[in-house]
Amino acid sequence: MTLPPNVYDAEPIPASARDEIERLLSSGDLFRYTAPEDAPVALLEREFADMMGAKYALAVASCSAALFLSLKALDLPRGARVLIPAFTFAAVPSAVVHADCTPVLVEVGDNYRIDIADFEAKLANADAVLISHMRGHTSDMDAIMALSERAGLPVIEDAAHSLGTTWHGKTIGTIGRIGCFSFQSYKLVNSGEGGILITDDPELLARAVIMSGAYEHNWKKHKAPHGDNSPELAQAFARWQNKLPLYNTRLSNLAAAIVRPQLAEVPRRVRDGRANHDHVAAILNGSPWIEVPGKLGPEERAPDSLQFNLVGMDADETRAFQDAAAARGVKVQVFGLSTDNARAFWNWEFLGPVPDLPKTRAMLARACDTRLPARLTRAELDMIADAILGAAEDVMGDVARFGT
Ligand SMILES: *Cc1c(COP(=O)(O)O)cnc(C)c1O
Repeated sequence: MTLPPNVYDAEPIPASARDEIERLLSSGDLFRYTAPEDAPVALLEREFADMMGAKYALAVASCSAALFLSLKALDLPRGARVLIPAFTFAAVPSAVVHADCTPVLVEVGDNYRIDIADFEAKLANADAVLISHMRGHTSDMDAIMALSERAGLPVIEDAAHSLGTTWHGKTIGTIGRIGCFSFQSYKLVNSGEGGILITDDPELLARAVIMSGAYEHNWKKHKAPHGDNSPELAQAFARWQNKLPLYNTRLSNLAAAIVRPQLAEVPRRVRDGRANHDHVAAILNGSPWIEVPGKLGPEERAPDSLQFNLVGMDADETRAFQDAAAARGVKVQVFGLSTDNARAFWNWEFLGPVPDLPKTRAMLARACDTRLPARLTRAELDMIADAILGAAEDVMGDVARFGT
């Protein structure tokens, strides 16, 4: 019997990275601000900004650092209330706490997207909005932007899992004031650790650059896009010189050298990831026990994992399903059942008392998570789909007997 594939291994780093890594190892030139210009980190920033259609990019140590610096760049007052979805990774409320702000959790529906009615209700008391496109699921950005603009609140996008996703053809991460991405190994582009933020706002960029650790005049190595001779960026840097703390959360040249050749791979990974996802989703939707929620109309996704809801299973059956899938060699995590899951809001005990969020809680109790990297073959995808369908039948009985 063939075993289902390992879905945790990343893709190999493109061979073209090796010469640059060798050069960095021989010269020891690993710090982004040593070279007078064109350090690998600076080149990555330019290439990433161009790829996304943004004016500026700042590469940092992680997406969490990018989120933290984004909040700091907005110059929010201490204790500012930041709306975040209640379905996200624990690092997101953590970045808000780290920035001396208070996370306010917004309900998420069973399609994994922000509940707009709850968002609207909580907006009145908020100071900023941080939208996590969790697992690459885009919430209704038309409604979120319109409501936030009306309330005069800035929007940050946590696009850690959305590189390559578009909304009305516009790249996710360029809709709010700042977009943040991750290069951690489970994301579309992998340097082990790393992150990047993008913005069109020179004031926000200047503040974030200095706080990321551009001490003294190192900010001079951050350039406006080619052909942009406006003095805005230099003026913003001059204005903030010596006025901001240095949090030193920079990216190293080695990580940039690993990321840069992967940018050319992004379109293929997006295309294959989407095809893989839609193939498995179509098979799973044939089961009476499984529902894969559809995307929203304006959204073109770039998934590297699959989320689906169990239908008609009680808590014991849900647990049995998880075990049955594991026995068939496919690890499926029910977000709300696995102990200590960092995506279940009641495990974020560092926030204090657990808020009452019945919709999100109900969704997490039956929502399943399985990885589906772009590199998988059709045969491997079919094996994963069969294992999941089989696990549901192991628990709920043979579908044929129900006459569907
Ligand atoms: C991975 C992830 C993060 C954190 O990224 P790091 O680079 O590991 O800090 C934040 N938000 C979401 C939605 C993520 O998936």
